[in-house]
Formats: sequence, structure tokens, C-alpha cells
Amino acid sequence: MKQLLLKIIRYNLILIPFLSFTQTDSVNNLDTILIQKEIMMKLTGEKPINENIYITQRASPEERKLTADYLSNYLSKIGWKVENHHYKTTNGNLFLDLFLQPMNGVNVSAILPATTKSKEYILFGSHYDSERNCPGAIDNATGVTLSLTIAYKLMQLKTRNKNFIVVLFDQEEDGTVGSKAYAKMLKNSGKEIHSIHTIDMMGWDDDNNLGIEIELPSPILKNLYQRNAQKYNIPIQVTKIGSSDHQSFIDLGFNTLGITEEYAKRDTTPYIHTNMDTYDTVNFEYLASSTEFIFQIFKSLVQ
Ligand SMILES: [Zn+2]
Repeated sequence: MKQLLLKIIRYNLILIPFLSFTQTDSVNNLDTILIQKEIMMKLTGEKPINENIYITQRASPEERKLTADYLSNYLSKIGWKVENHHYKTTNGNLFLDLFLQPMNGVNVSAILPATTKSKEYILFGSHYDSERNCPGAIDNATGVTLSLTIAYKLMQLKTRNKNFIVVLFDQEEDGTVGSKAYAKMLKNSGKEIHSIHTIDMMGWDDDNNLGIEIELPSPILKNLYQRNAQKYNIPIQVTKIGSSDHQSFIDLGFNTLGITEEYAKRDTTPYIHTNMDTYDTVNFEYLASSTEFIFQIFKSLVQ
């Protein structure tokens, strides 16, 4: 009986996220919230991420690997072509490299081709690692969950005149090591990049205004987000904060912005980088609203 029950639970856990999406073309906020809660629980140790393995942080090489495998499988199941980026970086100095291990990691990356011929790519993503001894629910399981949900919604669009790349970065908490390595690789690839949108922390909204912050946006992206914020009645604040993955791409001259909760206005999780950054502190209505807002912007860029 217990075996059967386990089987039913496992079967449903796999199918629920996809069934909810396939029933209707447009995903409403309630569906989004159910799907996002499911992903968030796996990333924060509320539910097993794989078989019966629970992860309470995403900081050690083992936990990061379990997370990367889960994310790769998710993207592959929803129809994206997974092409993960493995990197190894030096400590910046040959002498240090003799004593310290080089940094190893995996940026989970996948491609969704345009439905018409296009050389242009829109890239979006979020870091999946967490600070040590921290479940990293808001920082940054929320950003990862938002990115996965948008990946699914984009796949459902009948037409897209640009390609998409989603990247879930490793080792942001170790000095944006993952995104720096990725940005360098991207620059060398010579790919035509339309724009880059990175999301870090999207789960706290104490004043319930659904407001967001955009960080160091290029003038074009600033205008794009502000126009849409007005259209959807989302309060938006522009700041010059560069302490996340967007900075890695700005440094190499990409058309980039960072997106987050209202950090500069202090409407942001007080539990950042502590063991209290837990699943139960996440505002899921806010996460779903921000997901829909960013999705609508991406949609407008490809139709
Ligand atoms: Zn973060």
C-alpha cells in the first residue's frame, strides 16, 4: 500500500507541472503559483529534488550537481535543447593555483529556436547556487523558478522570430564565477545577442505593490521595461546596483539588465544569506506577477 501510494505521489509530482500547462494555452496566475510552489519546494529542501534526496542548500559541489541535474532534466522535458556549459577557472594567479583548487562548475543552459529563420538570441537566466548554510529560497530559487516558468511559456508560443537561451548560473555567491565564465564564452562564440536579462531574488513584497527594480539597464532596455511597467501598472525603479550576474555581461559590452525585488527601497528579504531565507517566506503572488510581467516583455520582443 505504501509502495503504491509512493508511486502515485511520484507520478503526480512529475506530471502536475506539465498537465496544468497543457490544459490551456494561457496560463493563469493560479496555475503559475501551483507550478512554482512545486519547483521551489524541490530547490529548498521541502520536497525531495531526486528520488528521496532533500537538499537544504545549494552550495557544495554535490548539492550544486543535484540541482544542475534537476534543472537540466526539467528544461529537457519541456522541450528545450540542453547544452550545459562546464567551466574551470583559475584563481587568477599561477602561484595561487598551486595551492587552491581551480573553480569548477556547470552553467545549466538550453536553447529554444525561433519558429522563423533568425540569427538573433535573447538570453535570460538566474543563478541557482545558494550561500552556504542557507536554503536560498528567495536568493535565488525564486529567480530560477521564474526562469523555468518563462521557458515553458515561451515554448507554448506559436511564433517566435528570435531564438532564446536560458542560463541558470553556477557560483554567483562565489563572486559571479559562473556568469563571468559564461559571458566570456558567449563573447567568443560570436553569437548575435539581442539582449540579456538576469533575475536575482523575486519573492519579497511586503508593501504588496508588485513593484520591481531594474539594475544598470542599457538605455534601450530601460525604456522597454519602463514602457511595459506603465502598461501593466507595475511600479518600477531603476538603480545602479551591479552586484549580481548582469555585471558579468555589462563588463563585456552586452545589451543587459538585472531584475530584482525592490532592493534599494528595502522591500526585500531581510533574511538574505541566512538560514532563514526559507520557502515559507516567499510571496508567491508576487513571484507569479513578476513572471507574467517579464514573459509579456519577452513575448513583445518576438512577435
Ligand atoms: Zn542572488
